[in-house]
Amino acid sequence: MNDKKTPKKACLQCGKPVVDEYRPFCSARCKQLDLGKWFNESYVVPGEETIPANDEEGE
Ligand SMILES: [Zn+2]
Repeated sequence: MNDKKTPKKACLQCGKPVVDEYRPFCSARCKQLDLGKWFNESYVVPGEETIPANDEEGE
């Protein structure tokens, strides 16, 4: 069996071939983008919906 290198995976962010150093991304930038995404979305747990900011419910 020819034991070739494992096929490169696609960057989770942009789909380009992953660079080992930045796995599972292709670059530091994509890594940062992904981290930023998580921070921005404030990690909501499925099933525990946050209540919309409606101070006044009456019409
Ligand atoms: Zn990328």
